[in-house]
Amino acid sequence: MAGILHRTLAHGADVLQARDEELYGLLQREQVRQHETLAMVAAASTADPAVLVCEASAAGNVTAEGYPGARYHAGCELVDEVERLAVRRAKQAFGAAHANVQPHSGSTANQVVLGSLLDPGATVLGMDLKAGGHLTHGASASMSGRFFTPVRYGLDDDGLIDYGAVAELARRHRPRLIFCGASAYPRTIDFRRFRDVADEVGAYLVADISHIAGLVAAGVHPSPVDVAHVTTTSTYKQLYGPRGGLILLGRDADTHTASGRTLRATLEDGVFPYVQGTPRLNTVAAKARAFAELGTARFRERGRRIVATARALAAELHDRGHRVLTGGTDTHMVLLDVGCRGLTGRIAERALESCGVVVNKNTIPGDPHGPRVTSGVRLGTNVLALRGMGVAEMTACADLLDTVLTAVRPDGPRRHHLDPVVRAEAAARVADLCRRFPLPGHPLPLTAPAGADRAAAAAAG
Ligand SMILES: *Cc1c(COP(=O)(O)O)cnc(C)c1O
Repeated sequence: MAGILHRTLAHGADVLQARDEELYGLLQREQVRQHETLAMVAAASTADPAVLVCEASAAGNVTAEGYPGARYHAGCELVDEVERLAVRRAKQAFGAAHANVQPHSGSTANQVVLGSLLDPGATVLGMDLKAGGHLTHGASASMSGRFFTPVRYGLDDDGLIDYGAVAELARRHRPRLIFCGASAYPRTIDFRRFRDVADEVGAYLVADISHIAGLVAAGVHPSPVDVAHVTTTSTYKQLYGPRGGLILLGRDADTHTASGRTLRATLEDGVFPYVQGTPRLNTVAAKARAFAELGTARFRERGRRIVATARALAAELHDRGHRVLTGGTDTHMVLLDVGCRGLTGRIAERALESCGVVVNKNTIPGDPHGPRVTSGVRLGTNVLALRGMGVAEMTACADLLDTVLTAVRPDGPRRHHLDPVVRAEAAARVADLCRRFPLPGHPLPLTAPAGADRAAAAAAG
């Protein structure tokens, strides 16, 4: 018997369809798009419908400033239980001593860490945006680079983190905080070496595992939780959760800061009231649901498959003559240099999208182009693995990418030309893969407007 949650959501969908055809239609088409395209976006995953239901639940109606048992509003008894559940599951999944599940995003989590551990103007050492670092690690376009004094490390000639150079920069600039973790780095990160550098200069080490949190939870990548002072992550990338952030503390949870308080207490206050107001309890519920999956054999198996498929994809692309940065991958991520083929990342992204393959352009080390054009493409296998693909399917995926990237030609700086026959054939292969490997748990749409959106997008260039 369907409970009130079921009936409310079904009723809501009915009302939306009846009263707001335009919005309903857009949301419906977006779901169809996710079914019918092959997402190879490294920064994405597809949340299970059970996660989406939590996100849509009435828990979001509750105003609950503060933390469970210490709210500034009445009526929080049940959402307190929801938040405690999310905290307990996060701690268990990552073996953490402390978890804060309230950050609205990964960026907010980093803002909390910077704002609550540092004085304005303090020096922050982080990976350069162009080398694969994240905006919030001290980029000049972000408040992290405006309110603090950024120093940036890059990569060596092989595209790997040069730990010696990081130590040199730290000795020279004496940062108060060092970020490790990246948005575009396909190799294992040695958190211990970063911690040694941080300890030598008296800095906090913050490990931002937004991209690899699922691999860490699955035991496929070393965990920073007991190594870094603080670990942050977004919850929608590799955790298959809702859009949101998470802060984890391990061995240093009760280490004292300069102000004499523990890291645990400092960061709790850092989220609320320092940076955020009310938490999104619906999203916290969705996090709780996603975190419950992290300990399962199913999740660990998928974590291993994410890496195995990415390695296979990198090798197959390399065999077809593509330049794979660092020569391969240890994670879900494969970085391709398309500049050496006379393409830009933007052209590659658009050509692939016109065939139903979704990737993202990405700057690569030494890139002559800015972030809107770029010379690289970033691929990821999170969604391919979720769809049930394994190493065997990477031949077809590599063939698909190779066919399009070989056939596409720049046509001026903004446009490209892709032979319509090649495009149609690639789109047919995408449709076949999507049919054979449907997104689990998402019922297939009844009316599939086969390729209609794609054809329109292709016509628009
Ligand atoms: C994606 C990402 C973030 C930001 O996460 P949002 O939740 O999108 O704000 C932070 N750090 C790294 C390394 C990321 O890749």
